[in-house]
Amino acid sequence: MTIKPLIILPDPVLRQVSKPIERVDADLQRLSDDMLETMYDAPGIGLAAIQIGVPRRMLVIDLSKEGEEKQPLVFINPEIVSSSEDRSVYEEGCLSIPDYYAEVERPAKVTVKYLDREGKEQSVEADGLLATCLQHEIDHLNGVLFIDHISRLKREMVIKKFTKAAKSKAL
Ligand SMILES: [Zn+2]
Repeated sequence: MTIKPLIILPDPVLRQVSKPIERVDADLQRLSDDMLETMYDAPGIGLAAIQIGVPRRMLVIDLSKEGEEKQPLVFINPEIVSSSEDRSVYEEGCLSIPDYYAEVERPAKVTVKYLDREGKEQSVEADGLLATCLQHEIDHLNGVLFIDHISRLKREMVIKKFTKAAKSKAL
């Protein structure tokens, strides 16, 4: 397994729409292992393939707490098939927008269809943190970031800050 460099805001790669995966094979499984390794190293609780520069519809999540046994989840071609009317608010962060957190309101429950790491069709009814995390990561597959769900003023401030940081790094 290899730790991959993370794509950071304002890299336009993050705005790409990822393509569906046609075949679940050993290469794809290796990519999911690299994604998990990269996520654990960061550390984070979710990562979409585009965040390591691969525009394919796959994401990984692990919501286990520190000291608990790891619970890696791999979602291939995930699709939200229903979302609840009731909503919940979580303070979100993103490995592509390091050290920035903001409250985001989303549907409290979602049903997601996907293929697992073996390519088997699965469906999960998620609530709580898993529901939020799945929506955040599926957004990535569509080129959407969590800062798109906050006020325009706040979003512009974050983008400005990261653009400045990226420029000073380039020098
Ligand atoms: Zn993210």
